[in-house]
Amino acid sequence: MEIKTEEQELVCAVCGEKSSQTVVVKYEPDTSVPDLDMRPGEPHRSYIKYWVSKCPHCGYCNSSIEIPSLFTKEYLQSANYNKYDDSLAGRFMKMSLVCEKNKIYEVALKACLYAAWAFDDEGNDEKAVECRRAAVRIFDSHRVLFSEKPDYVLLVADIMRRSGSFERVISDYKGRFLGSGLMMAIAAFEVELAEKGDSGCHRADEVRGVSVK
Ligand SMILES: [Zn+2]
Repeated sequence: MEIKTEEQELVCAVCGEKSSQTVVVKYEPDTSVPDLDMRPGEPHRSYIKYWVSKCPHCGYCNSSIEIPSLFTKEYLQSANYNKYDDSLAGRFMKMSLVCEKNKIYEVALKACLYAAWAFDDEGNDEKAVECRRAAVRIFDSHRVLFSEKPDYVLLVADIMRRSGSFERVISDYKGRFLGSGLMMAIAAFEVELAEKGDSGCHRADEVRGVSVK
């Protein structure tokens, strides 16, 4: 049993209404080899559906509906928020919007990536690329913040490559100093894949000379 969930009554931080939500109460450590964008292998790969919750009353989507917001429930009725549906990917994109509103830009970026994973699983490459480009836009909009977070700088190399921005991966990452030998080896691998025009999914253990566990 890698994961245990239970139904809990939670109060929405935006509208104050109660609803029953599936909450992860036990989570065994993930020992799988991740993809280059840190997507875990199975069985944890299947658990992303538990990473976003939605309030059935106001539509608030976040990793928990108990997380306080900097906006009012009127925002959740806006056309911008409702351009996404209630599929798993749509809920992650809504979570990304609320995290941007809450100025939690790291989670906003990752929520776009999780939406891309959901589209990857559906075989919807076009939508997956759109979500990855939305993640890169968040990265570009907050360059100072992210420049101090080498793990995000490296993560974005993969997000760019998977969305076909090969030239940018090569120009931004070739020979770049990234804080550790492991990170530089992964960045070099991203550049190598970009030079081949490879936008496919690769695992971290494909990086030469590096064992990632
Ligand atoms: Zn609510």
